[in-house]
Amino acid sequence: TPTITLSHINKVYANGTIALQDLNLEIGASQFISLVGPSGCGKSTALRIIAGLGQMSSGQLEWGQGQTPKLAYVFQEAALMPWATVRDNVRLPLTLAKMPKREAMAAVEESIARVGLQGFEKSYPRELSGGMKMRVSIARALVTKPDVLLMDEPFAALDEMTRSRLNSDLLSLWNQLRWTVIFVTHNIYESVYLSQRVVVMADRPGRVVADVIIDEPYPRN
Ligand code: ADP
Ligand code: ADP
Repeated sequence: TPTITLSHINKVYANGTIALQDLNLEIGASQFISLVGPSGCGKSTALRIIAGLGQMSSGQLEWGQGQTPKLAYVFQEAALMPWATVRDNVRLPLTLAKMPKREAMAAVEESIARVGLQGFEKSYPRELSGGMKMRVSIARALVTKPDVLLMDEPFAALDEMTRSRLNSDLLSLWNQLRWTVIFVTHNIYESVYLSQRVVVMADRPGRVVADVIIDEPYPRN
């Protein structure tokens, strides 16, 4: 997995809002980093720029090792296709990449197993709880074997118990797979629990106010 370097990134929206002011971040390979801060501090804007979904007004974004990384994005809304089964929802990115079904199946089954949804392959989204839908959404992100996983408040709409379980399972997955993860949240506990590095942002204008490496005093699974 490549490193990501953001240099002097500014983002001003058409209405004049300064969403990001001089954002500088170097994100190491296989790092689990979170961006934390109040609503409106520019977290999503930063993530969208990293994903190539949003334009910066000025600045630079570089991927290390000359590699074009494979990115996957997980949003707060699981955004599943309601008419498709869990299996077909997870397979979607491979379907879009025109991978034949037979060839896709091993990766699909593996992804479903990784998020603990074995037995639900033929279920439809309406039959699943919010936490399970999020698991499908994560499986769909993993099925392409991404280098970098971008997560924007993925668990914010879930109850505390479900959120806790998902956090713990996400951490185990990261321990197995070691993608680079950039996790956006406004929950400081969640960021500290999950990440190796917490970048704290403030608003008006959106900027980084602290960048903290979390030591690992206990084994992380
Ligand atoms: P966060 O993810 O931390 O809540 P955002 O990146 O969504 O923050 O937003 C940063 C700032 O930019 C906020 O003030 C928000 O209202 C503003 N903003 C976001 N998107 C747009 C847009 N498309 N047009 C104008 N302003 C926007
Ligand atoms: P302690 O050693 O004090 O028991 P914990 O690791 O249990 O520490 O929790 C520290 C903080 O992290 C607590 O405020 C808790 O709410 C939060 N936390 C613990 N586990 C999770 C989780 N799975 N997801 C989100 N937050 C968590």
